[in-house]
Amino acid sequence: MKVPLLDLKAQYRKIREEINGEIQKVLESQFFILGPMVEALEREIAADCGVPHAIGVASGTDALLLSLMALKVKPGDRVITVPFTFFATGGVISRLGAVPVFIDIDPVTYNLDLNRLEDFLRKNRRAAKVPKVVMPVHLFGQMTDMKVLMEVSRRFGLRVVEDAAQALGARQKVGFAAAQNEEWMAGAAGDLGCFSFFPSKNLGGFGDGGMVITRDETLACKVRLLRVHGSKSKYEHDLIGINSRLDALQAAVLRVKRKYLHRWTEGRRRNADRYRALFRETKIRDSLVSLPREQKGFYHIYNQFVIRVKDRDALREHLRKEEIGTEVYYPIPLHLQECYRHLGYHPGDLPESERAAREVLALPIFPELTLAQQRRVVRAIADFYSP
Ligand SMILES: *Cc1c(COP(=O)(O)O)cnc(C)c1O
Repeated sequence: MKVPLLDLKAQYRKIREEINGEIQKVLESQFFILGPMVEALEREIAADCGVPHAIGVASGTDALLLSLMALKVKPGDRVITVPFTFFATGGVISRLGAVPVFIDIDPVTYNLDLNRLEDFLRKNRRAAKVPKVVMPVHLFGQMTDMKVLMEVSRRFGLRVVEDAAQALGARQKVGFAAAQNEEWMAGAAGDLGCFSFFPSKNLGGFGDGGMVITRDETLACKVRLLRVHGSKSKYEHDLIGINSRLDALQAAVLRVKRKYLHRWTEGRRRNADRYRALFRETKIRDSLVSLPREQKGFYHIYNQFVIRVKDRDALREHLRKEEIGTEVYYPIPLHLQECYRHLGYHPGDLPESERAAREVLALPIFPELTLAQQRRVVRAIADFYSP
């Protein structure tokens, strides 16, 4: 019994007729770029996130890039983010000529360490180059504590772009006295929030796609202009933008899948619970395998189920031989990438990110995963540690 890391064919089989029907509609319309299908998806995602504006763009990377452009990030500006993330988070900063400032992660959540952020800001308050924007990444599907992050950001005058590429549907309780059960959706708390519809994300299209959400009408208008070369009406350009539009075929696919997203997320969460129960039975020590922890008040959507293990590479090889799919997100933190050598970071500078890069391993968690498959995964891991 093979256990793939992700089985998109199993998902497609269940919704094939519906998807094919919607794709057919787009083909009949011959309306491929933006248009009514994209607008409908924008309205739906905006409503899901509880914000007034959503703008469909060509990828998650472009969603981040356009957000920074809308905030007028310029060459030489400093933008704070984490080094333990997909490359795009740092790449978009550099593409605008701005300089990424990497702050280490919290070892439990793998998200931006907010104490270190505050420390950094306090120490650099009077520096000539005060950062302008902070980009938290809601890694693996669990939000950074946005209540704390927004408070710190406002205090130091930072704008906030949320990289929620892995966290569509994640949320956080923010028990304010007036509204004890108020919840914030990933992407909705900052100035702008960014999603990716890359096929392997929890809401994945049949190609690239992304979306920006915001509560700010001015920023929404800007992103809308910037995605079409800054053009309000044909051949008149108010801003210098790029070409980054979501296409109707992707929107058609995503609109079908969106209806199932909550059910799929609940499937991922059930699988996470099952892993917890199965690992408990094995009695593997915490020092060998530690499981992801869902923070109190946070709804984790488990885009990935990432464990921290001893002898990671040998375990991964063992699982590969057992035909169990795994992945390492991410083996090299951004501050140690060749292309960022000029920034002058050294090994040991951001120890939690570097340790995570050595120890993490993502296990299969997709909604269609069966209990029998999960048993196999856990047994194979237990065998590795006590042969
Ligand atoms: C996937 C991802 C992106 C980029 O999204 P694309 O749609 O592939 O461009 C950015 N940040 C993070 C954290 C991601 O996981």
